[in-house]
Amino acid sequence: MVSSSVLSDEARIRLPNNPGLRLIGFLHGLFGLLGSSGELPEILSRFLCDLGEYLQAEGGFIVATTDPTNLRLLAEFGVPFIEEDHDRGAISKFYDELIRKQRPALASGATPEASSLIGVPLVTEKRLIGVVVFFRHERLAAFIAEDIPLLSVVAQPLAIHLENVDFARVTSARRAELEAILSSMEDGLLVVDRMGEVLSFNNSLERLSRYSAAELYGLSWEDLLTTSSPRIETFHAFNRALRVGEVFSARCPGSLKTNEGPEIPVSVNFNTIVEDKGSITGGVLSIRDMTFETQVDRMKDEFIANVSHELKTPITTISGFLQMMLGREMPRSEMVPLLDVLKGETDRLHRLINDLLELSKIQAGRIRLTPRKFQLELLLKKSARPLMVRHQDSHRFVVEVKPTRGMILADHDRLMQVMVNLVSNAVKYSPEGGEVRITANRQNDWWHIGVKDEGIGIPADALGQLFTRFYRVNENQTSGSGLGLFITKEIVERHGGRLEVASLEGKGSTFTVHLPAKGPAETPR
Ligand code: ADP
Repeated sequence: MVSSSVLSDEARIRLPNNPGLRLIGFLHGLFGLLGSSGELPEILSRFLCDLGEYLQAEGGFIVATTDPTNLRLLAEFGVPFIEEDHDRGAISKFYDELIRKQRPALASGATPEASSLIGVPLVTEKRLIGVVVFFRHERLAAFIAEDIPLLSVVAQPLAIHLENVDFARVTSARRAELEAILSSMEDGLLVVDRMGEVLSFNNSLERLSRYSAAELYGLSWEDLLTTSSPRIETFHAFNRALRVGEVFSARCPGSLKTNEGPEIPVSVNFNTIVEDKGSITGGVLSIRDMTFETQVDRMKDEFIANVSHELKTPITTISGFLQMMLGREMPRSEMVPLLDVLKGETDRLHRLINDLLELSKIQAGRIRLTPRKFQLELLLKKSARPLMVRHQDSHRFVVEVKPTRGMILADHDRLMQVMVNLVSNAVKYSPEGGEVRITANRQNDWWHIGVKDEGIGIPADALGQLFTRFYRVNENQTSGSGLGLFITKEIVERHGGRLEVASLEGKGSTFTVHLPAKGPAETPR
């Protein structure tokens, strides 16, 4: 609470003796206070104190009514109110009336300290800002109606001052909010004037473009963005709209030129800024980094080419072999190796089609888990068995589980799918053979399942993208869709777990699945 004791004697308004001059001098000093620099509580306190003394009041206060449910005491002068129930009754009734009627008022108070009350509402064109109230002790004469005009004269500039302060506070809060929003946006944002010169930007634009703030201020938006025909038309149209002052809104792909770095594929949203009166003051460009999407698009194209190839190769083999077998009589001993190839090729087709179906299920959020309890070791052995049989001559397989009969609550078939994916990759990407080690150990409530191979390994710069759909380290390597690890990761995460990879190129890779032993925490989607 600010009290009148903060005022030094020099701060008080010195007044001449002539009553007219005295009033003018007083008002001049009082209004001057509102224009002075300093903290609002101190200014209000001085204002109230000088006015109170001029009115020979013993006490007074200013209350803000901007929030009707929470009246705020802005300043207090002289004898403070005794906020006891019987006092509060009379005084609060008085300022409630002021607030309701929004007219100056005089009243008799209920207590000796405030036996006479005078007050004015602080009203601007728009609203009621607060009230000013003064009171006198019963030993002094009561306020009279002639005191009201003076109070009314000072109330208006005070109300306007308070409104301005409030407006400045709200504006600065809005500005801070806006700045927080802009700097938390991932998209780059560029504000330009009607000549296309940069006026402002957010942090993301600095980060994306690698230009410093000082460098950006010297540029125009066309120094930063390019595109190719026919999209260049949109760029030209935006420029034209800025120059002639027309409303414009469009989105188009382009490239962001970076400071000594490669261009970044972006999607640009152009908008002109329209002022209240309808005139165009400039433009805003929001710039979205499309690197990831472009990469996925490219991988999708490669995938489509690859899938066509993946589908065609087995079908050609199958149809060729069938033709051969149909074309001539063949003893069973000759037929078996051919049937083996046919089986392998149909399995390959089966896997590819399954992966594609799984991808569409994941994308539609249609993977459902049916968890049940089972022995993890049995599942691990079962998942590896067909591969062990098929590759027993080229690879060594080891399965180690601790504790041996440990249980897990999981979707059995989905976990089987995870293990088949990881173990078949371990075999597929170990062309020279070597050991494939499947381990599982339980620590507290988690199972840590590892699949380790001694194969070709994965280059460090590819590790980050390995679980992205369609990603393959080397497009020309052995057959595959680039979907297995993406699907594996999805299944593991649906279980509330995590998939990790560690690898050294040329030495081998280890994929680790961390799974909660007691099943997914929430009901799986
Ligand atoms: P696919 O094997 O059908 O290509 P995946 O999603 O299973 O698809 O694997 C994605 C890529 O990750 C593979 O193309 C391969 O380059 C790499 N990869 C996966 N597992 C291994 C592994 N054990 N060793 C080396 N590279 C691997």
